[in-house]
Amino acid sequence: MSKFLSRRFSSLVPYTPGEQPRDMEYVKLNTNESPFAPSPKVIAAVNGEEVKKLNLYPDPTGKALIQKLAETYGVGEENVFISNGSDDILNFSFMAFCDKDKGAFFPEISYGFYEVYAELYGINYKKIPLNSDFSITPAHYFNAGSTVVIANPNAPTGLALSVAQVEEILKANANDVVIIDEAYVDFGAESCVALTKKYNNLIVVMTYSKSRSLAGGRLGFAIAHKDLIRDLNTIKYSTNPYNINRLTMAAGIASLEDADYYKNCNKNTAEVREYTKAELQKRGFTLTDSKANFLFAKSDKIGGEEYYMALKSRGVLVRHFKNEKIKDYVRITIGTKQQMDVLLLKTDEILSEV
Ligand code: PMP
Repeated sequence: MSKFLSRRFSSLVPYTPGEQPRDMEYVKLNTNESPFAPSPKVIAAVNGEEVKKLNLYPDPTGKALIQKLAETYGVGEENVFISNGSDDILNFSFMAFCDKDKGAFFPEISYGFYEVYAELYGINYKKIPLNSDFSITPAHYFNAGSTVVIANPNAPTGLALSVAQVEEILKANANDVVIIDEAYVDFGAESCVALTKKYNNLIVVMTYSKSRSLAGGRLGFAIAHKDLIRDLNTIKYSTNPYNINRLTMAAGIASLEDADYYKNCNKNTAEVREYTKAELQKRGFTLTDSKANFLFAKSDKIGGEEYYMALKSRGVLVRHFKNEKIKDYVRITIGTKQQMDVLLLKTDEILSEV
């Protein structure tokens, strides 16, 4: 820390992204990226005329992409917000809908960035413990008097609430914003987008990073009542109006035009998830009922950190969290079937040495 950093941030602990080592070629199952390339239509759109226009700013309103998203999700254009990855939208949401008086409620074990944003903005937040099976009880979020933020499916557990359960939370927080982070919804959970028509306090946040193979493009979107979208735009136009570059905008539009391609990729991921889960169970692992593009797994023979390190030394990267309550587990991103077979092979090697 330099002597110039504002005292406000002196104790801030930033978010730690999953490691991206460059020392060797890993089977990379640690940051929940898609193993599949973007659709050929996306690649064509990015290589085309758009590159020649990089001397010009992108459309700050993102009209063409918003139109496509509105059409895809059956909502009005005034109900859609787009930004530079869903992290950007979560950041704007904490900025817009929380302050010293209005706190935040989120699960104790969830996406680590929620706590970072809450700390960044000096928000009075409450981490709600999960049940011992890692499930979320909706009633724990009733009458929060705070903004509620829930990843659904949750990370890193992969467990999902039903739309009916989210609706209970919405009904019991009519005067507060409820943010449902659907980063992983396309791999088998139920989306709450339809509820945005009924509840003016709901923001559904989604990303292109997982189910649309565009983590490197940085594109996220949110669907909500038009007044909430207007608030998010107030923050956007007060920070960085050109927050989506031209190439990403073109990629975002093209990917919506190739929905079948992504549907197939996501179906494959869900199938490979179930295959890998069954194989790990045969090897003595306990796993949650993940609906996401990752598994959350605990071995009966080896600790979480030890397993993570042993895999890494064999060229397979998974994610381990040091938090006491989940330290026995690792989170394993679902790659291709071939990548998961490598994971299983290396796991057999490791377990035979324990
Ligand atoms: N929400 C959750 C639950 C996540 O796991 C992630 C990915 N790290 C994000 C949001 C952010 O995704 P992105 O900024 O790439 O859209």
